[in-house]
Amino acid sequence: MNFNFIAQQLEKRSDDALLRNRQLVEQVSAREIRIAGKYYLNFASNNYLGFADEDFFELSTGLGSHSSPLLTGYSKAQQQLEDRLCDLLGYESAMLFASGFSANSSVLKALFHDKSVAQCSAIFQDKLNHASLIDGALQSQAAMQRFNHNDMKHLQSRLEKSKASHKLIVSEGVFSMDGDCAPIAELAALAKAHNAWLMIDDAHGFGVFGEQGLGCAHSIKPDLLVITFGKAIASSGACLLASKAVIDYMLQFNRDYIYSTAMSPGLALATLKRIEQLVAAHDKRQQLNDNISYFKQLAKTHKLALMPSDTAIQPIVLGDAEYTLSVANKLKQRGIWLSAIRPPTVPHNTSRLRITLSAAHRQADIEKLLTELVAVL
Ligand code: PMP
Repeated sequence: MNFNFIAQQLEKRSDDALLRNRQLVEQVSAREIRIAGKYYLNFASNNYLGFADEDFFELSTGLGSHSSPLLTGYSKAQQQLEDRLCDLLGYESAMLFASGFSANSSVLKALFHDKSVAQCSAIFQDKLNHASLIDGALQSQAAMQRFNHNDMKHLQSRLEKSKASHKLIVSEGVFSMDGDCAPIAELAALAKAHNAWLMIDDAHGFGVFGEQGLGCAHSIKPDLLVITFGKAIASSGACLLASKAVIDYMLQFNRDYIYSTAMSPGLALATLKRIEQLVAAHDKRQQLNDNISYFKQLAKTHKLALMPSDTAIQPIVLGDAEYTLSVANKLKQRGIWLSAIRPPTVPHNTSRLRITLSAAHRQADIEKLLTELVAVL
């Protein structure tokens, strides 16, 4: 029968407790979420600093950019946002994307789009890198090699064996499903020793790490840095920061950038204002860190096994996908909303509850989370 693979695959996913569903969210803030008329404590969002949408701004500029940035879509608002980010992060040039996924995948694809260049190029990726980074490398013409998670010895041996003339090491700053950080200084040292470039996706580090929230890679300044606006900035979109030559190259060959409508000027301006707030948000960063410490301390008291994460992402690995889903569902009945992360997002038998903490959470929220977790587990 024609296209019967669709129903079969859906059925298989469902049988394996791996079916993904969208949930209609009626109202959401960093702390609370309303679904089907019911309020839950929200431990599933990436609004790490708890920026609230109520303090959003009057947009003094347009909603639409009307065309590609290479036609008429590049406006003052986008340029101001790029310039400010270059200034803060110490880069020559930048370009904006509609999403972090698009930035990551298209940058890798474009960098190695030319077959004769790609033939003597290699991309070295941490095994836990985000899907967008893996997809970009697969869609590029270059060979991809993966090294064991945060394993510098493994990466080193791969680099030593490689005969490629152009080597690119790619890692996340904070790993989205484990919550641990990449050893960015060591990655940079290895890159230097092997004449390689380094690309860091700091989606979960930007806004949260460092005195001004400039992220995990700030003191290192990788050759290519991607930051996203959908997490601590509580907006949406992303930015690639690099040398002027790299950005000029992307303007020629990055198909997502060239053939897609530019970021809305209103969104760019609002994001710029949010960035100014973020740089000054020392109290929110402190509150987030206090909440992370409090969560870890309570989890220890309750003998809950955590992963080696000191970030806002605190996964609890339960193993079996069906069991993890049933625990998440029981927590929902008790007013706690968190994500059950299952394969293929994480490896088999490592299904987990992914708890994300925010500065908006109160101590009592974290106490309730732990009480309910212990009761359900
Ligand atoms: N990189 C990482 C590490 C992420 O976790 C995500 C979001 N899940 C992305 C990139 C994609 O960013 P965006 O949501 O803006 O597409």
